[in-house]
Amino acid sequence: MNQKQNYPSEQESRVLMVDLGQRLYQRGFVAANDGNISVRLSEDWILATPTGVSKGFMKPEELVMVNLKNDEWRGILKPSTEIKMHRAIYQVRPEVNAVVHAHPPHATAFSVAGIPLDTTILAEVIVSLGAIPIAEYTTPSTQEFADQTARYVRNYDAVLLANHGAVTVGRDLVQAHFRMETLEHYAHICLIVRQLGSENRLSFEQVRELMDLRSFYGQAPPSPNCLTCPSYTEQIKQPQPGPEQSEPGQSVTRSSSGIDQEKLGTNFIEDIVRQVLTRLTGA
Ligand SMILES: [Zn+2]
Repeated sequence: MNQKQNYPSEQESRVLMVDLGQRLYQRGFVAANDGNISVRLSEDWILATPTGVSKGFMKPEELVMVNLKNDEWRGILKPSTEIKMHRAIYQVRPEVNAVVHAHPPHATAFSVAGIPLDTTILAEVIVSLGAIPIAEYTTPSTQEFADQTARYVRNYDAVLLANHGAVTVGRDLVQAHFRMETLEHYAHICLIVRQLGSENRLSFEQVRELMDLRSFYGQAPPSPNCLTCPSYTEQIKQPQPGPEQSEPGQSVTRSSSGIDQEKLGTNFIEDIVRQVLTRLTGA
């Protein structure tokens, strides 16, 4: 137990994970044996949900201890088949202590439709989650899927997984769980807004103030992608920014507010120029 990192105890984590699993199941965020949860208990060990067990009916003693550095695990059941994804996420986000993966219906529907949740319509969501991209489809439970998901989680706290579901991370189990709740709630609202047929987006300046708040509240990582996202500038369709702006080993220049001012300025000016040209040419 590393007191400096303030890791939770194994026993309290077992009890809390069972409770959160029941909440995921009761809210319909998972069906049957879907989904998986993990929490970091030390630098090397995590506690994870087992494979083949419904998150709504887990027992504390069924949860599995898994080593992050090798394939060692301890428990009466085998760890989740998605343990590779959890391991990859903890490797790219050392400050993250919990991971939740689920298939909440509205968020999953957006992942199937190929529509990222990146519109600037709700202040609280911008501050707590930022933009929510979609990681391209790869086969679940594979190392490719794990690596692909981790590449996105490097820059985002909540990610949709194409034709699959969603994953959220946090400094502890409760934050990761609440982010999954926020993600699904947001997706539900986005769907209703689309049905209503009208959408008032927050302005660029309003979003920038919220992103500064996000940095103030220590909502890591303050991804530069969020503010260069097309929907954060003007409603001009551009390719969805991927995670490649900060590949492993590549640093991203950020201001004290966590915003990449250079890229932000460049993209914003480009968007304005593109918008003017579009209106002039009628394209
Ligand atoms: Zn899944």
